[in-house]
Amino acid sequence: MKVAILTIGCKLNQYESEYIVESFSKAGYGIVDFKEEADIYIINTCTVTSQADSKSRQAIRQAKRRNPKSIVVAVGCYAELKKDELKNIGADIVVGNVEKVFLVDIVKDYLIKGDLEDTRNISREVFYPMPVEDFKDYARAFVKVQDGCDSECSYCIVWKARGKPRSAEIDFVVEEVKRLVDRGFEEIVLTGVNLGSYGKDLGVSLVDLLKRLVKIDSLKKIRLSSIEPTEWSDELIDFVIHEKIAKHFHIPLQSGSDRILEIMNRKYKRKFFENIVLKLKEKIPIVGIGVDVIVGFPTETERDFLETYETIDQLPIYYMHIFTYSDRPGTLASILNPKVPPSVKRERYEALRKLRNEKMDRFISSFLGKKIYGVVEGRTIDGNRYTRALSENYIPILVEGDYSFLRCKVKIFQATGKNGLNLVGKLDQV
Ligand code: SF4
Repeated sequence: MKVAILTIGCKLNQYESEYIVESFSKAGYGIVDFKEEADIYIINTCTVTSQADSKSRQAIRQAKRRNPKSIVVAVGCYAELKKDELKNIGADIVVGNVEKVFLVDIVKDYLIKGDLEDTRNISREVFYPMPVEDFKDYARAFVKVQDGCDSECSYCIVWKARGKPRSAEIDFVVEEVKRLVDRGFEEIVLTGVNLGSYGKDLGVSLVDLLKRLVKIDSLKKIRLSSIEPTEWSDELIDFVIHEKIAKHFHIPLQSGSDRILEIMNRKYKRKFFENIVLKLKEKIPIVGIGVDVIVGFPTETERDFLETYETIDQLPIYYMHIFTYSDRPGTLASILNPKVPPSVKRERYEALRKLRNEKMDRFISSFLGKKIYGVVEGRTIDGNRYTRALSENYIPILVEGDYSFLRCKVKIFQATGKNGLNLVGKLDQV
């Protein structure tokens, strides 16, 4: 039987899709592209924005149209929260996040019985490891070490879909990373819904995990996915100076207005955020810091927005993901008024977009003539003139020459020029 999968949403979903693909492939199913005719279509849904909802619904309809006899499976955050809605538009199986680990059996059961037994007795409080054997299309391997969140941000629905925070045992993660390093990956990305809260349920911390991981020979760089501001302890700030930690940190700001932060139920103030960024910059001059920011949150005034703009403008921030606020039914923010008119949201988005491009350009230019670590992604462009790499502080590098044979390896590059928002460089040593 042929299985096709489509992933919507975050890096964690992408990782979990890799796991799903591998588990179906090991069970003897053929994997085909989502655009092809398949017997089973899996849509790994997302519900972080209304756009993500709509993409997920669209994919379910598309799958049923492509092969009306197929079994359409909706999994993930949207499926977790809106089971009936997705069944009504054509999904045959609708299961949440923890069921991803058991998906092959769930589908097999469905094929035999033509119905789905209630899977809700699968515990939502246990961390189910999802080891991925090989990341064939990736130059970096991802390891999911944490799931769930209890921060209850007022605009967010993810914590409802992902359940309580829970973590993988340190020994499991160490073994997993060793296995991936043995397969040739020199850079590992640690991921989770709220990575900074890693280990709280186990009585350990993210630093405890990192201390073990940096001892692994042949592992050159560990990249951390998003870390919430409140999770940046002094101990973590001091530890990330370590040469094996990639100097790229994503820290969601969301707003620079203390008033808005409070109604977002974000448990820090602008000053607190500024201190983290400044400390990191002072200790790690090459650090590449990215932020998330939401424009047009209900009640956001011009003054609130200016505070956000100034915060980002004044801080050594490299890039930002800008989200235009939209109501998520079921969240506290969705019942807050007054709403910001769409035209004002657009203006604020545009202002931040311009600022982002200026800041990125300045940050990238500051590395001209310098040497920098990066992982070779392996894809060549412009014939074989350049090979893509990604610097440890998250700058795309176009490396002169064909170095696709060095895919997954961490090397030093000499930045010689710039091409748009890429550095152009030479390999310093093979
Ligand atoms: S920290 Fe806030 S925004 Fe992030 S997943 Fe948790 S509740 Fe959602």
